[in-house]
Amino acid sequence: MPRGNPGRLKNVLQPGARFGELTVVAYAGRRNGRAMWRCICSCSRETVVEYYNLVRPHPPHSRSCGHVRAQLMRAKMLAANEVLKALTSPHSGNHG
Ligand SMILES: [Zn+2]
Repeated sequence: MPRGNPGRLKNVLQPGARFGELTVVAYAGRRNGRAMWRCICSCSRETVVEYYNLVRPHPPHSRSCGHVRAQLMRAKMLAANEVLKALTSPHSGNHG
């Protein structure tokens, strides 16, 4: 990180600012007294995110429309499948 974190001053973001997979597009008003921001995800889906969810330190997958989380789940499932395959594949009898 070459620069400090400018996001702590106000609930104001610059359109075009990037947070993880999300790019800020416009202010989306307040919800329950919290500033909401309209963002475009890297997968080109649109999502509205609470200001604090954008700027506070987060696991990276929280800063997306959710597709990153879905990808992680998929990767986990694929990895589990590989393990299952390895366990059940009939390539024993290879010792000696
Ligand atoms: Zn996405």
